[in-house]
Amino acid sequence: MSAPDFIRALIADDLENHRVRAVKTRFPPEPNGYLHIGHAKSICLNFGIGNESDGATCNLRFDDTNPLKEEEEYVRSIERDVFWLGFSWHGEARYASDYFERLYQFATLLISAGRAYVCSHSLEEMRQHRGTVTTPGVDSPDRCRSVADNLDLWSRMRAGEFGDGELTLRAKIDMADPNMKMRDPPLYRIRHVSHDRTGDTWCLYPMYDFAHCLSDAIEGITHSICTLEFENNRELYDWIVEAVKASLPADDSLPSTPHQYEFARLNLTHTVLSKRKLLELVESGAVSGWDDPRMPTLSGMRRRGYPPAAIREFCDRIGVAKANSVVEVEQLEACVRDELNRTAKRVFCVLDPLPVEIVSFGDDQQVVLDAPFFPDDIGSPGSREINFTRHLFIDRSDFEATPPKGYKRLSPGCEVRLRHAFVVKCVGFDTDPNTGAITRVYCEHDADTLGKKPHGRKVGGTIHWVNQSDSVPLELRRYGRLFKDADPGSAQNTGNNKIESADQPLSARIDRESLTIVSDAKAEACVGKAIAGECFQFEREGYFVADHRNHRAGHPVFNLTVGLRDSWIKTKTASQDTTDRRLSTTPSRSKPQPQQKHRRSEQREQNRRADDFLRQREQFYLNDLKLTADEAEILSGDRPTAAFYDDALAACNDSSLLAKWVVNEVMRESKALGDDPESISRLGLPAPFIGELVNLIHSGDIASSAAKRIFAELVKCGADAPSPQEIVKRDGLAKLSDPAAIAELARQAISSSPNQVAQFRAGKQQLLGFFVGAVMKASGGRADAGVVREVLGDLLCTDL
Ligand code: ATP
Ligand code: MG
Repeated sequence: MSAPDFIRALIADDLENHRVRAVKTRFPPEPNGYLHIGHAKSICLNFGIGNESDGATCNLRFDDTNPLKEEEEYVRSIERDVFWLGFSWHGEARYASDYFERLYQFATLLISAGRAYVCSHSLEEMRQHRGTVTTPGVDSPDRCRSVADNLDLWSRMRAGEFGDGELTLRAKIDMADPNMKMRDPPLYRIRHVSHDRTGDTWCLYPMYDFAHCLSDAIEGITHSICTLEFENNRELYDWIVEAVKASLPADDSLPSTPHQYEFARLNLTHTVLSKRKLLELVESGAVSGWDDPRMPTLSGMRRRGYPPAAIREFCDRIGVAKANSVVEVEQLEACVRDELNRTAKRVFCVLDPLPVEIVSFGDDQQVVLDAPFFPDDIGSPGSREINFTRHLFIDRSDFEATPPKGYKRLSPGCEVRLRHAFVVKCVGFDTDPNTGAITRVYCEHDADTLGKKPHGRKVGGTIHWVNQSDSVPLELRRYGRLFKDADPGSAQNTGNNKIESADQPLSARIDRESLTIVSDAKAEACVGKAIAGECFQFEREGYFVADHRNHRAGHPVFNLTVGLRDSWIKTKTASQDTTDRRLSTTPSRSKPQPQQKHRRSEQREQNRRADDFLRQREQFYLNDLKLTADEAEILSGDRPTAAFYDDALAACNDSSLLAKWVVNEVMRESKALGDDPESISRLGLPAPFIGELVNLIHSGDIASSAAKRIFAELVKCGADAPSPQEIVKRDGLAKLSDPAAIAELARQAISSSPNQVAQFRAGKQQLLGFFVGAVMKASGGRADAGVVREVLGDLLCTDL
């Protein structure tokens, strides 16, 4: 039976073969900022695994080894966010700083065993002696200092006899090791700064590489899961744990020998995911704080009204892979919509109120209507009462004095249904004599149409409305994406986040129109009782949440969580029509409307009921392949789709990634050809090629941009397409990850930009982004960004 992802597969194997008895994971945030959606992926993975097998647990550990950047406020926010996402950690929250004394003792043992030494090289000297990927480094003269002298210096370092950076403790490994991380890496540095939790006890602080693996071992962690950029550190991780274990006295031991496993970090379009960059947005005032509803932080998403279940579902749907890729933010929004579709009560709110007078209604006449919060087939039962009187509001955009052909909303002489109420006919309207703007619409109602179809005629449209006398005035904050640009952080967004594009500060790149405020919306009476954090679907307008910070009884403030349909980009950029305030008026071809989606899933359900084979496929996808419920449901919905997936699977070794490709990419293309099951066959796409394409991504042989390119060609050529491998070969798309070849390109970039090199060495570290960009460009986008950074980091400096 295959596991849902490669990490869980490894863990299952460890359990089966009794390499571990109880799985222990940890989530190790550095308390230097608020958590973002990328962390949610790591949280769902670590805490998820920590819940899944007998005796499994997951710790929360603050990696507080850098006293300069860490704050109590961040610690509290992290605890709150993990909890909000629906997870709880094992025992108390832990801190790396709790282990400072023990770590110091471990370092002392390494010195005594001759496996670490005190080095007097400055940063610059270390850099110079470290060699390059292609040439070995040079031993420090301090490497042969006696153990006794090292121990003496080490205790004096602790006593504060030396200044910052004057001495460093280094592991004694091998200055010629092909892995540059193994060339006598620093383990401790001197920093005379006070620490949030240990105060002035220490002026020596351990490096990440030393503190992390040993904290894992101290806590008995079995599987230490981290993101790909630490792949090269794994060897050092193992070395340190083994070296410490070997030097421990007989009566001491480490609770576990942990191992490190890397997975691809989450990158999202239109988003930056790096605490440092998010801090820049906060500090520059470009956003209102870490919990600004446009921020990709968990606290921003909470304020925006994203349900934690939707974020968990998103993490589930994107899965865990070993190759970096960029996920479209629309996928996250789709999860939010799916969840709110079931849970957010549907009520009426008019964003731009236009008064309507029902002239056939008496001044004191009132009808109380019972309006359900959900359609019959969705959500829970329940309803509210709404009053219908002579004076109502409708939305200004639902009335046209001179309607275009096919207009289905209200216009002179025409009828519409007021939702949950009567059919009304427009019998006149007033305009402002100065501006010509419509100020009031007059209608007659048909008393015989309450809950009934009108007799002998068809009424085209249904619009929402609000009763005037008990309406609630609302302030609505309509949030869009913070960045219009799909890739606002350019090169740095796809890997280690220390890079940034050199020219423009991030805060200058945000979309100034990403927040618009509607101050005079009117909602129906029940919205006046909303409590902060409560979410509604304002019918035909979008999902909105009562704002945590500003919403008060008497002054309701709501934030737009997400529009009803995914046509944000189209309305915002294609038409540039900013006067149309409605978020989504054009149904998009690729993203079906909720009803359409519902109809499709009903059809699939019917197919399965009528077809044993499809029912078996669903069980197989769920139980054997461990696909998500959604994927299994969709792929087993009709025979052509199941056959396509099965054929592709025969050529593929990652069933989960393949499912995502078929459900998202292939089916998007097939739906464009028609809404029937056979459309996937009409695509003419050879299914095994999709399996092979997924293998190439899975093995890390091609970058995601190359995968998209190959897929486009497969779709275009159909049955005549060359195989993915042939395309890779023909177009030279294989990922370039050979350090020597990359070093060559890096040297060229460095030698052609002496000014930038000088600035970089003088401390302008942001320029690393400039160099990464140059190397990526020189490689035609094929270079492995992680290796590029690694090589450049080594050629340009040694980062302590
Ligand atoms: P940032 O890039 O935001 O500064 P970080 O990696 O420095 O993140 P940590 O506090 O060290 O942040 O992260 C805690 C854990 O979350 C780590 O195991 C890290 O690998 C993981 N993590 C951070 N960002 C992502 C991401 N985008 N996708 C998946 N996991 C992530
Ligand atoms: Mg970090």
